[in-house]
Amino acid sequence: MPADPDVPSAPADTLRALGAQLLVRGWLSANNVVFAGGGETGAAVVDSGYVTHGTQTLALLEHALAGQPLARLYNTHLHSDHCGGNAALLRRWPQARLAVPAGYAPHVQPWDAQGLGFHAMDQQFEPFEVHGFLRPGDTVRLGRRDWEIHATPGHDPHAVVLFEPSSRTLISGDALWEQRLAIIFPELVGEAGFDEAQRALDLIEGLRPRLVLPGHGDAFTGVPAALAASRRRLEAFRAAPLKHHQYATRALVTYHLLEHRAQPREALQRWIVQTPVLRHAVDAHAGSHAGDALGFARETVDRLVADGVVVEDRGWVRMAG
Ligand SMILES: [Zn+2]
Repeated sequence: MPADPDVPSAPADTLRALGAQLLVRGWLSANNVVFAGGGETGAAVVDSGYVTHGTQTLALLEHALAGQPLARLYNTHLHSDHCGGNAALLRRWPQARLAVPAGYAPHVQPWDAQGLGFHAMDQQFEPFEVHGFLRPGDTVRLGRRDWEIHATPGHDPHAVVLFEPSSRTLISGDALWEQRLAIIFPELVGEAGFDEAQRALDLIEGLRPRLVLPGHGDAFTGVPAALAASRRRLEAFRAAPLKHHQYATRALVTYHLLEHRAQPREALQRWIVQTPVLRHAVDAHAGSHAGDALGFARETVDRLVADGVVVEDRGWVRMAG
């Protein structure tokens, strides 16, 4: 398709034209998209990282904002790695207003940690006050442009992506990554999510983004390849849901170990069996393998060790490297 002549194509040029900075974060924290030159609506940031990284997030934002106060804060979805810094940011900039996807309204006003799933995942969080909602079909002003709000259920039922049509830039959250597919959480707890994730990929394809600012990893322009890889992964999971359970369990165990550094193997296996969000996966495997729940947990840790993701030393397990 022909390129719009007035739109710069290199990611750095596009980001500059949009007044956006992508702060690529390590695991536990999602990326932050910062709009320092906020125009009439003030400086804004999309997603705020994990709660234990609050100090680091604040330092990064102070630097990116170069003395401007934060006026607006948005979340693509309310997973702990995307909204964990909300409370710290609102303490630092009390005049800032926070808006989250509208689907969460029943769980944030009043605050409902159970409904938000933080307990189910056994992840830390700090409650925060929500001032408004992102409604699919509306736009939100970021920098000097209007960004469209689109619903992208699948990974999370209420997640949204933000799309700037003139540059065709997409803030994708966890709906599209360059190389991997995020866990389809509803499927993990026995609800439908694969069809929704498929439709989210179709929607993103229809937007024809040129540049994607994902929730994790670097900005990328190879959108057709990323969509194709995500679809392949999704089809494989749909064909063998137990594989999705395994993938999700590995990812959540890894996240848990990144947070807690080292764990006795026994404690880690117990965590797998007892963490509510994994109950369905554990039951499904225990049933299909003629093994018990602990057998599945042991197998999960064995595989992570065999694959070099974690190392085991005198009964303790920790991340490799
Ligand atoms: Zn997520």
